[in-house]
Amino acid sequence: MNKKDRSLGIYVHIPFCVKKCDYCDFLSMPAGESEKTDYVRALIKEIEECWEKYGCTGTEFKVETVYIGGGTPSCINPAHIERILGCIDKEFEHADREKTEITIEVNPGTVTDGMLKTYRELGINRLSTGLQSANENELKALGRIHSLDDFLRTYYAAREAGFSNINVDLMTAIPGQTEKSLAHTIGLVTDLLPEHVSAYSLIIEEGTPFYERYGTEEKRPFDGDEERDLYHMTVRLLEESGYERYEISNFARDGFWSRHNTAYWTRRDYFGFGLGASSLIGNVRYRNTRDFESYVNRPASPDIFDENIILSRDDCMDEFMFLGLRMSRGVSKAGFESEFGIKPEAVYGREIDKFKNEGLLREEGGYLSPTDRGTDYGNYVFAGFLR
Ligand code: SF4
Repeated sequence: MNKKDRSLGIYVHIPFCVKKCDYCDFLSMPAGESEKTDYVRALIKEIEECWEKYGCTGTEFKVETVYIGGGTPSCINPAHIERILGCIDKEFEHADREKTEITIEVNPGTVTDGMLKTYRELGINRLSTGLQSANENELKALGRIHSLDDFLRTYYAAREAGFSNINVDLMTAIPGQTEKSLAHTIGLVTDLLPEHVSAYSLIIEEGTPFYERYGTEEKRPFDGDEERDLYHMTVRLLEESGYERYEISNFARDGFWSRHNTAYWTRRDYFGFGLGASSLIGNVRYRNTRDFESYVNRPASPDIFDENIILSRDDCMDEFMFLGLRMSRGVSKAGFESEFGIKPEAVYGREIDKFKNEGLLREEGGYLSPTDRGTDYGNYVFAGFLR
């Protein structure tokens, strides 16, 4: 295990949604109250048994961030959220509980003013909500359950409840989307001044209703160039409105980078609890079972791993590079050296030179960072650091 830095992130997965969106291949499903209660019981058991499960002790870790994601965490009773956070507080030490970044994902149309107030009372200080589009036809095309009005009500209610750190999710390349409708969505969102915006290009995943509709080349609503144009426009409009792109798909106003996600891109330790959740502890990546029945009825916690990958030092170096290069600031050369005791050039000299010559990578202020073109061709660059 990496003993040097034991700051910790905790991810909690709530795999329930009111209804499955047509493009979604996340681990999420509609469920009744008794399934939700059974699930939370299993989740709490998993958190209580985590030290035994990971073979370490709580004294090594200080929690910096908690992220309750899904699915739709707001579709379970807030009393469940209270139990989960109470259990985390009991089992873990925070670096400073007041300053722990605690995020919850909520879907417009699934949250009431009372729920938002309860979240604040529980110390949840960051809210992430999925608008995707301000255009009603695009929302319908995606199979979302909410309208623009639902989103606006949730947004204003969250501000009213005292949330001063809000993320809004947007989507590009939605069937029927035009430059005009996308610009309208972005304008509407930036006028609201959320602290953070995530903007992802729609991916048509196999096994979804979208794949049936748009899965073949002829049926695709946009080709690669059109998708890239929409994405470039998104970046430009968000940057013009004062949002810094600090990761491929993530934008923030000053001081509002997601601390939780930044920990993923910088390979900090994190525990993931819940169905299908992943963890990274030192040089081991764990992944829980994705099977609901096995998760809820498991006899003993170690059984919930269906994957347990021990990473070699080379694997860890590769991850450090390609995860770090997702971020606009890139990879800290000093950080790499202090982690692995060797300079990045000594390991990846050839790749670094090649990408610099191709205009995809630059060096500035002790960081190796992707150029805008390097971000566009991210997958090509990341693959170069995989040995
Ligand atoms: S709300 Fe999110 S997780 Fe749930 S079905 Fe829709 S896209 Fe998937």
